[in-house]
Amino acid sequence: MNMLAEGRPTKQEENLVMPEQNSVTTHSGNRALIVDEPLIFETGSPDRSGVDLPAAPDVASRLGGLERTAPIGLPGLSEGEAVRHYTRLSRQNYAIDVGLFPLGSCTMKHNPRLNEKMARLKGFADIHPLQPVETVQGALGVINELAVWLIELTGMYGVAMSPKAGAHGELCGILCIRAALEARGDAREVILVPESAHGTNPATAAFAGYKVEDIPANSDGRVDLEALKARLGPDVAGVMITNPNTCGLFEPDMKAISDAVHEAGGFVYCDGANFNAIVGKVRPGDLGVDAMHINLHKTFSTPHGG
Ligand SMILES: *Cc1c(COP(=O)(O)O)cnc(C)c1O
Repeated sequence: MNMLAEGRPTKQEENLVMPEQNSVTTHSGNRALIVDEPLIFETGSPDRSGVDLPAAPDVASRLGGLERTAPIGLPGLSEGEAVRHYTRLSRQNYAIDVGLFPLGSCTMKHNPRLNEKMARLKGFADIHPLQPVETVQGALGVINELAVWLIELTGMYGVAMSPKAGAHGELCGILCIRAALEARGDAREVILVPESAHGTNPATAAFAGYKVEDIPANSDGRVDLEALKARLGPDVAGVMITNPNTCGLFEPDMKAISDAVHEAGGFVYCDGANFNAIVGKVRPGDLGVDAMHINLHKTFSTPHGG
């Protein structure tokens, strides 16, 4: 909270900053994204090394004249320099063990250490993507059971378990909407996003090739239904709505929003990052939502991602 509200790190966060970074200033005073540790290739000198390798044996080349003629450009650091470089980088990681995580919906979540431990069970963590399918039936069983629960809770027709987090799920959902529109030969260009939307919403729409337009909010901080209806038309592919929204307010007009968008031939995407506030009370599918993502790490306390 402190970092966002005042733009400066708290005392504990200050301690995370390396001494040489203290000289760096930004407009807001927030240095969270500043990584001024040079790349490993920019430090040391190529003639130095942290390991002793035996000299290469004197054998004839079998590369038929394709041998490298210049050095391959490995970084040259002593062992101590290499250790310090990576230790300095590791200290720039922000972690719940060193301070508050200052992002709204991520702050609401509780991720018990036990869940991290469960995710690291060998039957999950040691699976290889090319492993024979009969050897991963247990993990597939768990994934399938979860998928069935998610369908039940959301009222959707199907679920994809492949996206790795919210932003990835958004891209998956918006690309599904794009595919559905293209399948009916309907080249729409615009996705409408409320002013209060999380940055990933417009970023996803733009990444999927859409133009992004704002939907204004009314004085309550909710979507202005009349302004939305006025903008709908044959060029609008869909809307992306977070419900409850980023201000923590439930959109009571959600069904009316969905009906209006559907009537205009568009699709409704729901950003489910705040699903924990309504899970078990209302199903997004019943509110007319066509596609949504669920942040399992926000609503269901899994380790981040998934
Ligand atoms: C957290 C969040 C996202 C992005 O989810 P990630 O899992 O962090 O990629 C998208 N929208 C909203 C409203 C969020 O709070």
